[in-house]
Amino acid sequence: MALADPLGAGLPQSDRLRAFGIVALNGMFDEMDANGVLRQAVELLPGDIAIVSSFGADSAVILHMVASIDPGLPVLFLETGKHFAETLDYVETLSRHLGLTNVRALRPDPEDVRRFDPNGDLWETDPDSCCHIRKTEPLDLALAGFGGWVTGRKRFQTADRGVLPHFELTSDDRIKVNPLAYWNDSDIAAYRKAHDLPEHPLYAEGFRSIGCASCTSVVAEGEDARSGRWRGRNKTECGIHFDVNARIARPLPVAEATVFSNGRFIADPWRDWAEGDAADGVRYTHVPLPVFLEHRETFLKNPHPLGLLVAPGDAIESVAGDLGRFASVAIAFPAFTDGRGYSTARLVTERYGFVGEVRAVGDVLIDQIRLMRRCGITAFVVAHEPTRAALADGRLGDLPVYLQPVGRDEVPVGSRRFLRRAGPSA
Ligand code: SF4
Repeated sequence: MALADPLGAGLPQSDRLRAFGIVALNGMFDEMDANGVLRQAVELLPGDIAIVSSFGADSAVILHMVASIDPGLPVLFLETGKHFAETLDYVETLSRHLGLTNVRALRPDPEDVRRFDPNGDLWETDPDSCCHIRKTEPLDLALAGFGGWVTGRKRFQTADRGVLPHFELTSDDRIKVNPLAYWNDSDIAAYRKAHDLPEHPLYAEGFRSIGCASCTSVVAEGEDARSGRWRGRNKTECGIHFDVNARIARPLPVAEATVFSNGRFIADPWRDWAEGDAADGVRYTHVPLPVFLEHRETFLKNPHPLGLLVAPGDAIESVAGDLGRFASVAIAFPAFTDGRGYSTARLVTERYGFVGEVRAVGDVLIDQIRLMRRCGITAFVVAHEPTRAALADGRLGDLPVYLQPVGRDEVPVGSRRFLRRAGPSA
């Protein structure tokens, strides 16, 4: 039985979800069957939820549930241009069989394909980037119109998915619903049989998890269902289930990994604003604050992930109300001796409550890293070789005493300078 408005009437949906909390949501619906979880999600986000389906080996199950609730719910299919012909046929036959009326094919931006994959072989040399332009980007764009989405992921599929809950809150503030999280292979087979659902044409040939033809192979007896995906590569996910800042997971040559974040160097998905860029079309770009203000209305309508670049002297308070629009704030440190970026970082994180990535760019040296962290900076674009080497080795130096307290934990009222000791998180 569906619960009647368990999060309280009258509030906007996003506030209701936040107020109640994702943990409580999982607790409430932990025992609920997959159909109940899906129905509840649709009721929590009426008109604001999409189903993302690969039309793969198991997809018929969740799509059958969707059709029984509302066949007009939007179903997003990532038409990467690399699928088996059998999968494209299956999209047609399964949709017709279930009576789905709102299946939408999401295609990569032709300009991205022309620029990054003109020969169609990017999957061989750089599958993460291939997935990025063919899956992650089109999905990000499509999800901009929704507050939540449903996936068919299951705990048993991989070790990484072993703790999958029914409900997740993503860093871009969307709710992600996994009604089949607790299901296993037998549950899927039993449901398929009970409802006489058409099988993916390749299932009988030994394909157990079906994605793009270039990256999918047959699974042998006893292997994990997903072991046929990106076989032989250090890759288990396409990236659509990564959050913004973890989206590029490929191991890189050290020189290419320019951003130090979460204790390691990673590739930088962000670029700088360039002459000729268009405010309505750029993506994963740090926009200088004055440029943002000049074209504010257009940037606010831009559906892509954007970052903000704040230079010394920029009035951060002029964009305080817009900070939630950005996934990343880059603070410029043009010279080692210029400390204005520290104050900006504290304003951004402490006063304005920004929770996305805050990064330091410019003259970033090892002696500054701990101080920057104390001010809320979480990522560092480092060009200085000795600093890169020290970070790679985990040599951050020590900071036992501070002169200027930051954050609530370090501002004991009436404290004396000699009493101020750096907290463990510094
Ligand atoms: S699964 Fe393979 S072909 Fe498909 S988008 Fe990813 S890398 Fe490219």
